Amino acid sequence: MTIGNISKDVRRQPSQHACVLLGYLPTAKLECFSGGRRSVERYRLFHYCMTQILQLLVVCGKEGVLMMCPDGLVRCVFPILAAYVADFPEQCLVACCKESRCPKCMVTRDQRGESTRSSAHVQRQTMKSLKKYENGEISKEEFDGNLGLRAVYKLFWASLPHCDIFMCITPDILHQLHKGVFKDHLVSWCSQIIGEDALDARFRAMTSYSGLRHFKKGISSRKQWTGSDHKELERVFLGVVAGLLDEHAVIAVRGILDFTYYAQYQSHTEATLKKMDTALRSFHRHKAIFVDLGVRNDFNIPKIHSMLHYTASICLFGSTDGFNTELPERLHIDFAKKAYRSSNKRDYTHQMTTWLHQQDAIYLKESFLTWYRDNRHSDDTVARDTDHCNLDGLSDSLDNSDCKAPVIVKCIRINIPLQWWRNPTKKDLSRPTEEQPNGNYLVLLCLPQNEDIIYRRVVLCPDYPSHRFKNSTAPPSY
Ligand SMILES: [Zn+2]
Repeated sequence: MTIGNISKDVRRQPSQHACVLLGYLPTAKLECFSGGRRSVERYRLFHYCMTQILQLLVVCGKEGVLMMCPDGLVRCVFPILAAYVADFPEQCLVACCKESRCPKCMVTRDQRGESTRSSAHVQRQTMKSLKKYENGEISKEEFDGNLGLRAVYKLFWASLPHCDIFMCITPDILHQLHKGVFKDHLVSWCSQIIGEDALDARFRAMTSYSGLRHFKKGISSRKQWTGSDHKELERVFLGVVAGLLDEHAVIAVRGILDFTYYAQYQSHTEATLKKMDTALRSFHRHKAIFVDLGVRNDFNIPKIHSMLHYTASICLFGSTDGFNTELPERLHIDFAKKAYRSSNKRDYTHQMTTWLHQQDAIYLKESFLTWYRDNRHSDDTVARDTDHCNLDGLSDSLDNSDCKAPVIVKCIRINIPLQWWRNPTKKDLSRPTEEQPNGNYLVLLCLPQNEDIIYRRVVLCPDYPSHRFKNSTAPPSY
């Protein structure tokens, strides 16, 4: 999980620790269920686990939670689920639809190859349909055939506030475009038309050029393809097939490649979004050539259909590089593989979570020490509590250092009733009180060792009406 107000440049660097692991989902084989039922039970298990993991979001999204922001101020935050990054099978799992349908819109299974757009799924309507099916008001034929849903009745997103799960599903460039539409489909069709040997001969005949990869052995014998391999192939593919394919097929290839490149832009204007649509239309206008040449019967492919949703998603959530699944795939190494290797391979889940907790603690401690070292000469406002300061020996080193000794400022804990926070001008509400810590609104603290110093740096928002604290000192500001 990550939060939306972190810059995407920071978020996509695994070393910045902008994404955290919430939990491991079980991969049980569910052999206790019969073959037909196993699949739907797997859906139910996933939704049950996600409900457990995200249950705090329900309360926090409705009532708000006090959080300390990077500028040191505490704000009342209402976290909501805004975007869900996943590959296609997981998108269907989340949206509770069959894999022959679209997790975002109502398109039928035979229409997925067309360029026409269908109306979007409506969360309330989907929940109503599931309820009706549970109560036996809808026949199985209609439920499976027309609606294309899975019989999951307790959905993890049903109770999340201000959330439309179908809108949350974001484009997935790696699996949908690079690996899906381009490599698995387009390259395969072209290879069938041209012939593997002829295509490999073209790749071998290429001269090497700075910045372009030379596929010296061709591409047919290569089994393992990474994301960067796909990108390298995309750069030379149009040149390789030009002259070998029919003109319409070359235009269709160019449409897909143009779309893929525009989709990777780090920022967009209305003009670039229009060009994306134009490239997609160009592919749809000329795709029939692949049917004429006998390599396809239809284009009912979910990844080709998903391209219709790209421009709308970019308008909603920004450029697609912020939602690329390459980062979660990379984090799989840190959060799962490395953690597993650190265990003794027996009862490993507990050991893996402990290891991850320790890694986080070391990173946070290191960050804090770096922050302190960088601020020791310039920041003379760091509070120091000689009675309570417990920074694992750091306080001793502070005495001998040449930086200005931090001075303790009165520490005030304030209990703020939620209603008052929302509407401080309302007179009949109970006012904030001092020295009455309320367990419900504790600021999340990173490390026990850092608690003292972080707590003393908590400052209330500048627009916080301090005059309302009757008979008390105004909150300290540093
Ligand atoms: Zn769709």
